[in-house]
Amino acid sequence: MKRVYNFSAGPACLPLAVLEKAQSEFLCYGDSGMSVMEMSHRTPVYQDIFDRATASLRKLMNIPENYEVLYVQGGASMQFDMVPMNLMSTHKKAYYINTGNFAKTAMKEAKLFGEVICPASSEEATYTYIPEMTADMFSEEADYVHITSNNTIFGTRYIDAKLPPCGDIPIVTDMSSCILSEPIDVSKYGLIYAGAQKNIGPAGVAIVIIRKDLIGKVSGLPAMLDYAVYEKNGSMKNTPPTYAVYMAGLVFDYLLENGGLEAMKEKNEKKAAKLYAYIDSTDFYKNTVNKEDRSIMNVTFVTGDADLDKKFAKEAAEAGLVNLKGHRLVGGMRASIYNAMPEEGIDALIEFMKKFEVENK
Ligand SMILES: *Cc1c(COP(=O)(O)O)cnc(C)c1O
Repeated sequence: MKRVYNFSAGPACLPLAVLEKAQSEFLCYGDSGMSVMEMSHRTPVYQDIFDRATASLRKLMNIPENYEVLYVQGGASMQFDMVPMNLMSTHKKAYYINTGNFAKTAMKEAKLFGEVICPASSEEATYTYIPEMTADMFSEEADYVHITSNNTIFGTRYIDAKLPPCGDIPIVTDMSSCILSEPIDVSKYGLIYAGAQKNIGPAGVAIVIIRKDLIGKVSGLPAMLDYAVYEKNGSMKNTPPTYAVYMAGLVFDYLLENGGLEAMKEKNEKKAAKLYAYIDSTDFYKNTVNKEDRSIMNVTFVTGDADLDKKFAKEAAEAGLVNLKGHRLVGGMRASIYNAMPEEGIDALIEFMKKFEVENK
């Protein structure tokens, strides 16, 4: 059977070369005589896989020495809890910027652990933009400011110029749907977290990149929810998601071999620009997001007619362009075009959109 163009928001498509590499090593990794899935995490051969994944990620993202890389299960959603549990230390207070459903859920969870201030939100406009923020919004002392770098459901993202002007208060960001899509300056953040299943690898692991001085400031936490326990045990207090980390390592190496994040940024911007340019060129499809804030990972669009949107998703799937239905909260369509979506996938989508327009105008 032919592989389709998979526009899923997550778990999402992976680079074919990575899948093929995993396939070639599936039954027997190196001279170990077994699959990576069958290995004890307490063996040198697996420890090497794990350490190399981390080294590759450090190189790829240019992660400074004073940051730790941790592998945690429970997805990005568990970080909605671990972040406030571990970081609401001094002031027991944090700022949350409400730019989408995941941002709002993170905020809701944080309220279980301390005081939450929401200085800026775009909820009143169904999250179609990233709010402008000013320094006076952050006048109260707080432990951190939480943002969502890319809003997967609504198709918006922060550009650097719009990061919260919060002075010395560390920024914590959920980068689940845009990590590795372009180079970023890690030192601008106190903590970066991301579920793997969009741009990193298969589901089952979340990556936490945390400034070391932010670890271990709260005592008495349950072990598996304490960043200090992960740091102390090299993310192996218990069995880590061994295969997911192996796959992530293959993706990191693939990216390093293909020009790193500079090259990804160029490719991703080109793909997104092509798709938005087409959407903007016709009245048949609309993208309602503030132009400056448009995501380069998740492109949302509607025809304005819910039945027609449904028909679009169905016929697109029949043409080998799958998972284009928008999130159930917003309807319409969403093309998730992460790193692994080739430019040919965008071309095929635009061709289909043109044809659908002619047939349904
Ligand atoms: C997908 C996603 C999540 C949820 O991730 P899980 O791993 O399913 O918990 C959270 N935040 C953002 C921005 C996402 O895209």
